Amino acid sequence: MIHQLVYYSRNTVSDSDRAMLTNMREILSVSQRNNSRDGITGFLIFDKTFFIQILEGERAQVTETYNRIARDSRHSTATIINVRDVPGRLFPNWTMGGAMRTPEVQEVYLRHGFGGALQPNRLKSDQVVSLALDLQAFEVSRRQEQKLAS
Ligand code: FAD
Repeated sequence: MIHQLVYYSRNTVSDSDRAMLTNMREILSVSQRNNSRDGITGFLIFDKTFFIQILEGERAQVTETYNRIARDSRHSTATIINVRDVPGRLFPNWTMGGAMRTPEVQEVYLRHGFGGALQPNRLKSDQVVSLALDLQAFEVSRRQEQKLAS
């Protein structure tokens, strides 16, 4: 079994799109380095107001990683939506994938019924997982298109 933790938190970084994108890239870069060391995979959704993250791996590593993340001043009030054991990883190839909400990915949010701002306190972990899997698929196809075009 794999341990899975889903939480949300509030972004504390300046609201300029450029600053938020830089921040997101830095977070993903450090996450990928640390998570590949710690056997953590998952996905980070960022709708500019909230982060919602799925962490999966060994129980001790997931707990340790979450505790470290929760202390980070780039966000606040980290709140766990759900913790559970699942039969396998949902993001086996992603030491941490992520997507910031931009007009480009809005169609994915709309497909899941999220036309406006996310209200993470009302979300169930299965809704988060389903949105993250679609955002991941969108990101994969976007990268393939970029590769083909170059
Ligand atoms: P360093 O990167 O060297 O950082 C040292 C200290 O400085 C840490 O306390 C760090 O929190 C703080 N710090 C670094 N950069 C900044 C900055 N720009 N602003 C404020 N404080 C800063 N880490 C993971 O390992 N895996 C994850 O999946 C993961 N997901 C994250 C999701 C979110 C929403 C956020 C905000 C952070 C996430 N992080 C994740 C980063 C995590 O919070 C720690 O910053 C990181 O794990 C520390 O890495 P490090 O030990 O190599 O220290």
